[in-house]
Amino acid sequence: MAIHTEQLQQIIEEKLKPVVKKVDEQAYYAEEYILALSEAGFFNSTGKDTATILQDEAAVVRETAKVCMTTAFCVWCHLAALTYLRNSRNEYLKQQILPKLEQGELLGATGLSNPMKYYSRLEKLHLSAEQTADGYIINGVLPAVSNLGKRHYFGAIADVGDREVMVLVSTAAPGLELKEKVGFIGVNGSATYTCKFENVFISKSFVIAEDGKSFCDIIRPTFIYYQVPLGTGVIAAAAEGIQKVKAKQNGCNDYLQVQATELCANYNRINAELTEVASSLTLKDIVDIRLQAVHDTLQAVQANMIHNGSAGYIAGSVASRKLREAYFFANLTPTVRHLEKLKANLTE
Ligand SMILES: Cc1cc2nc3c(=O)[nH]c(=O)nc-3n(C[C@H](O)[C@H](O)[C@H](O)COP(=O)(O)OP(=O)(O)OC[C@H]3O[C@@H](n4cnc5c(N)ncnc54)[C@H](O)[C@@H]3O)c2cc1C
Repeated sequence: MAIHTEQLQQIIEEKLKPVVKKVDEQAYYAEEYILALSEAGFFNSTGKDTATILQDEAAVVRETAKVCMTTAFCVWCHLAALTYLRNSRNEYLKQQILPKLEQGELLGATGLSNPMKYYSRLEKLHLSAEQTADGYIINGVLPAVSNLGKRHYFGAIADVGDREVMVLVSTAAPGLELKEKVGFIGVNGSATYTCKFENVFISKSFVIAEDGKSFCDIIRPTFIYYQVPLGTGVIAAAAEGIQKVKAKQNGCNDYLQVQATELCANYNRINAELTEVASSLTLKDIVDIRLQAVHDTLQAVQANMIHNGSAGYIAGSVASRKLREAYFFANLTPTVRHLEKLKANLTE
């Protein structure tokens, strides 16, 4: 592993652990933590091969999720945006914007749930685009885009009629209205906003791909790959939670059906699978891994709740936070039902 594990743990200790409760209970967005990671070079892809980039950045998501899955999700949003620009043929975006995103001068996000669902025929496309001589004018509403703030850009896809265009949108774009969304059972500290586009102009230099569908086919496996460590981080935290209460009621927890050893085995298996597929990533492999990771994560957080007993049932307990966060992992596009459909279609 090429990443500096000690430095990562130090940033987690200093910038993430002190704010975890605020992230969960006061919808606090841990932007400083993500910026610290960027400044320390954890998103720098220069000179690295694809497999190393995938594994190193997945490790950052995993280690973050061990402490706070909400913030790990924000890291994932940033990585999704990096993936779009790394795969784009637009030299302006690659030369001018990508380095700023990798170094933390700018931060990235993704509004691709809707198009991912659209391409799987789950829903209609929410954004439409009209082509002009210099770019596109975009209208419509995205119900939820996370990891947004003042220095942020997000990927979006809009219907042009005979195809879909993929663009990079600044949160400062005239005509774009952001409305903060909180009130979820978890991940409120994910800086999530409804994004309303009213004649938002996107110049040609911010077009990621003129053919959104083909581009999604390219980035989809990576998009899903980076999600898996959201689950493994939570599984590891649940195993730790179980270990902590091992002595409770004279060791009565030993009688419970799911034990930390099983969770650790799942954690190790998924990590090994991610390592194995990194050098030749296919959609089929990663869909299988992601789907199983959801089930393993849900099993882990449920076991942790049961091992913790009524202490886990107290509002604000770590076990309950992990449980609530894990359900977002199940509901993040591709959701479990979407994954099941992808899996069925890929094996047909
Ligand atoms: C906290 C949070 C953050 C998200 N961040 C992103 C992101 O960064 N980028 C992105 O593209 N997508 C984002 N999404 C969407 C997410 O990835 C999934 O698409 C969505 O959770 C899948 O839910 P579903 O298939 O059940 O969707 P559906 O039930 O079809 O819902 C589609 C959208 O409408 C919203 N919605 C549904 N019912 C209600 C309701 N009754 N009241 C209010 N809203 C409702 C959902 O949150 C979802 O975004 C986010 C969703 C949530 C909950």
